Amino acid sequence: MSDVLIVGTVALDTIETPFGKVEKALGGSAAYAAFAASFFAKPSLISIVGKDFPKQYFRVLKKRGINLEGLKIDDKTFHWEGFYEYDMNEAKTIKTELNSIENFKVEIPEMHKDVRYVFLANINPEQQLEALRQINNPGLVVLDTMNFWINNKKEVLIDVIKKTDVLLLNDGEARQLFKTINLVKAANEALRLGPKAVIIKKGEHGALLFTKNKHFNAPGYPLEKIKDPTGCGDSFGGAFIGYLAKTKDLSEHKLRKAMIYGSIVASYNAEDFGLNKLKNLTVKDIEKRYKEFQSMREF
Ligand code: AMP
Repeated sequence: MSDVLIVGTVALDTIETPFGKVEKALGGSAAYAAFAASFFAKPSLISIVGKDFPKQYFRVLKKRGINLEGLKIDDKTFHWEGFYEYDMNEAKTIKTELNSIENFKVEIPEMHKDVRYVFLANINPEQQLEALRQINNPGLVVLDTMNFWINNKKEVLIDVIKKTDVLLLNDGEARQLFKTINLVKAANEALRLGPKAVIIKKGEHGALLFTKNKHFNAPGYPLEKIKDPTGCGDSFGGAFIGYLAKTKDLSEHKLRKAMIYGSIVASYNAEDFGLNKLKNLTVKDIEKRYKEFQSMREF
């Protein structure tokens, strides 16, 4: 059995940034999250792709030890097309073609039903709910989403939040979901729905952690070379839950460390297009940047 189960999209992404363009690159919330988690734990992926999904992309995922037992193959792969302007914190969606994701019937393989760490990465909240229904007794459920689902499936999304331990949102989504410009208010509203922790990601500016009476912020890494921030949110989430699955400790202290590891993997991810940077990343690289984060925080 794997340590972390990740439900989300596996996609072909067409992305343009001021630094270049890629077409039909391997992407999707679950692909980024599983990649990031794999530096800390053994992830398994629950998703669907189409017959058009390149064979070589299966190999890329397998090479990182990601279990693909729960990856169905259907008609046509989810395709997302987006671009960034010089403010790289916000992706502008050109096209979302759900394709096989639209009617994806989540089926958690028997071997994964007792998994303790579950990441409901960005996908239709109805599918997130169905995944949770099939998992026996998860120890930690982390949830991510995006404006697309807040616009289209808000009520179901609120139901999923109620069953979640840690909610991840970016600042724009938090404001949109809780109809306030104040992030502290948004986080407190989210906590009232049930999660024990809420993390608000602020792109290159880091991330904020809110628990009942405590607050922590993880800095962003001062990157000189940013090419493509796609998947930073997902890789933050994947590294976050991967680290917690590795330590098997959900104390406030470990939640904070998990946020730092999330920021580190997300910062590396932005250095190249798609999954190119994470493909060649090593645990040594991660630990090197961890030390830099420690020294950045000394005063
Ligand atoms: P992020 O971490 O927010 O940059 O996530 C980027 C990834 O989200 C891309 O690889 C897309 O394929 C994927 N994505 C885009 N739109 C959606 C959507 N509506 N639902 C799930 N995944 C999506």
